[in-house]
This record gives sequence, structure tokens and C-alpha cells, in this order.
Amino acid sequence: MSTPLLPEQRQQLATLLAYCREMGGVDFYRSQQDAGPSSVEAAMFQPVANAGPATILQTVTPEPLPDMPRKPNLLTSPPLIDFSSPAIAPPDRAAALLAIQNEIGDCTRCPLAFEGRHKIVFGDGDPNAELLFVGEAPGADEDIQGIPFVGRGGQLLNNMIAAMGLDRARVYIANIAKCRPPKNRVPEPIEAMTCTPFLFQQIGVVRPKLIVALGATAATYLLGSKASLSVLRGQVHDCMGTKLIVTYHPAYLLRDPRQKAEAWKDLQLAMKFLDLSPPKRAAN
Ligand code: SF4
Repeated sequence: MSTPLLPEQRQQLATLLAYCREMGGVDFYRSQQDAGPSSVEAAMFQPVANAGPATILQTVTPEPLPDMPRKPNLLTSPPLIDFSSPAIAPPDRAAALLAIQNEIGDCTRCPLAFEGRHKIVFGDGDPNAELLFVGEAPGADEDIQGIPFVGRGGQLLNNMIAAMGLDRARVYIANIAKCRPPKNRVPEPIEAMTCTPFLFQQIGVVRPKLIVALGATAATYLLGSKASLSVLRGQVHDCMGTKLIVTYHPAYLLRDPRQKAEAWKDLQLAMKFLDLSPPKRAAN
């Protein structure tokens, strides 16, 4: 027979149960047939040892939860940035971005802080850029250098930017998550949702005319939509008070170069929106 739990242990279990429910995790451990109380719930309702005769069952009121990140709802649209309010003056935008970076500090707000990251990859580029690219998360090279898109994918992104008639110094580049997920996995929702408020602040400072979401993760968190890339590509979307288009992530294009032609169609849509022309090739 199992040993009854002490009131203090029941209290701890109750707090854990409440937290797991908040995170949506408890029911994963219950089978369809098991309609009865879980072992944790059962422990909460065990007879109290040494209780008086009137106390047969005791419910435990959980302590207030610690201030933990909540399970995000991916279908909630990101907050609108008020583009009608006065913008930060262009000369002050670099300082405003630095203030956000200082606010992030040596961030430990989400689990990625404890998964082997070396550097937080804040963002890079022109604080007054008209075009802002958003990727998924840093990879190994970015994690070491602290700069987004510096590996092979970064070289391809540089080529894509050049094909649009721009150079990298004239655009701004950031990611949904600022720390490298282990083995380059997709950021978990709780990680992305904890980190994106900083990205939204960066977008509010830069106020680009157009955002290019690189890949499905960026599109999901910027648009608050789980629709597939094939549905989202080829359109100019409203995003937080500015406009956004969706294309493939450069890492995907490295794996499947056949899709580069499709990506070029997306970039042409961005160029049309920004009134850009491709660079003229030098005559031989
Ligand atoms: S991913 Fe973002 S929220 Fe998470 S630890 Fe890094 S900077 Fe902080």
C-alpha cells in the first residue's frame, strides 16, 4: 500500500498540477479510458494523516503560481505596432535598438538560455531600413559570432539581397528566437513567444516598409497563422501595421536549390512593392 503524502508534499503536488495544467501538459499522461483522477489528483484527495474525525477529505488550494511563461496560442495575432504614432527619429533609432538590446541583457527568460547558447543574436543592419528580414533562429555560426545569417545560409541571403539591387548594410535582419536551439531544431512555441516581443520592439523602432518572413516559423509568429508557406506566399500581408511577404528560408533553399526560382518570384514581389530594380549587369 502506498504511503500517504504529508500535507506539505500534497501542497507541492497541487502547485505542480496547476502549473502543468496551465502549460497544457497533464492530460498528455492520461489514457482515453482513464476517466478517473490522475495519480497526482488522487494524492491531493487522500485522507489526511492524523486528521480529526470531521476531516475525511481535504482539497488543497494551490499556491499562487510563479511568474512562468504561459502556453502560447499560436493563432493569436501579434500586437499591432502603432505606425500612426510619432516614429523615433532616424538618428535616434540606433540608440533605441541598443536600449532594447540592453533590456534583453544576458537573457534567461526562456529555456534556450540553458541549452548551450554562446551569444544572443540580437539583429543586424540599418536601423532605418525599409526592408527587414526575419528568420527562425541562429545556427552554429551565428551563435559563435553573435550576428544573424553569417553561415552558408547567410551567404545565400546576401546573394538574394544583392539580386534585389540592395546590399546587406541597407536592410535589417533578425530572428524569431535570439538564441540557438540545440541541433538547430525549430524553436518551441514557449521559446518563440517569449522572445518575439523583443523582435516586435525592434520592428517598432525600424518601421520598415516591408518585412520578408524567411520560412514557416517566421511567418507563423509574425502573422499569427499556422497556414502553410504555399498558402502564404505570393501575397502582401498586413503585419503589425506594416506589410509582409513570405518566402523560403535560405537554409531550405540550400537543401533544395530547385526552389530558388520560386524564391526569386517572392523577391520580385517585394521589389515591386518597394519600387526596386535589379542591378544592371556589367557589359562584357
Ligand atoms: S531566445 Fe530570446 S527569450 Fe529566450 S533566452 Fe534567448 S533572448 Fe531570452
